[in-house]
Amino acid sequence: MKNKKISRSLLTIYDLLYRRFGPRHWWPGNTRIEIIIGAILTQNTAWGNVEKAIKNLKKAKVLSVNKLRGISEKRLAGLIRPSGYYNVKANRVKNFLEFLNSRYKGSIDRMFKADLYKLRENLLAVKGIGRETADSIILYAGNKPIFVVDAYTKRMLSRHGFIGKEAEYREMQSLFMNNLPEDARLFNEFHALIVELGKSICKSKQPLCSICPIRGGRRRQNARRSKETGRNQESAGNGRKAH
Ligand code: SF4
Repeated sequence: MKNKKISRSLLTIYDLLYRRFGPRHWWPGNTRIEIIIGAILTQNTAWGNVEKAIKNLKKAKVLSVNKLRGISEKRLAGLIRPSGYYNVKANRVKNFLEFLNSRYKGSIDRMFKADLYKLRENLLAVKGIGRETADSIILYAGNKPIFVVDAYTKRMLSRHGFIGKEAEYREMQSLFMNNLPEDARLFNEFHALIVELGKSICKSKQPLCSICPIRGGRRRQNARRSKETGRNQESAGNGRKAH
């Protein structure tokens, strides 16, 4: 159920981050298969390594559903080597392609025509695809409204008291999805902004709160609210006096 206060706070945080960082233009990738492969390869590695792996796939001219299906897992592992855990990841990519083929006749269009939650359930049944990867595929390649949660999200939410330290993925995802408009563009940008915040300011050991747009912005917002509340109480008091 929507909580107006949380909804307002989340939208304020979004505005503050957007004003500081601007549009993030996520997800980097020219095609949906490139985005999907990127989402699988980015597990446990920095994005720069994924870019190198994607570059190799492009250079070898195999970055399409059919071409990726046509090459051996061993060759695929060699091409995506820069992304780390390349044998495991090659197996995950192959699992995804097998799933795409058996469920949706190899068609990404057909896959994204499926109901969002049914598709999510199906993706989660693919070995090696977890919640963050499935949601990234659905949001960034499918342009469907599901909120992606990661360690940066958890850090920011727990430091601001929205959740406890033990909060699960589902709880965090519901916090956004229950309290924000169901809008893929908003979810896309918000997640990307949180990642930027976590990388550059809200660091795990030493958060740089003094330069954080969220701290200054929320303080100003609270001060404005208590001023307004003060004014309202004053005028209510005056009203009572007039009677
Ligand atoms: S850096 Fe500080 S103010 Fe900014 S989000 Fe993290 S904990 Fe909050």
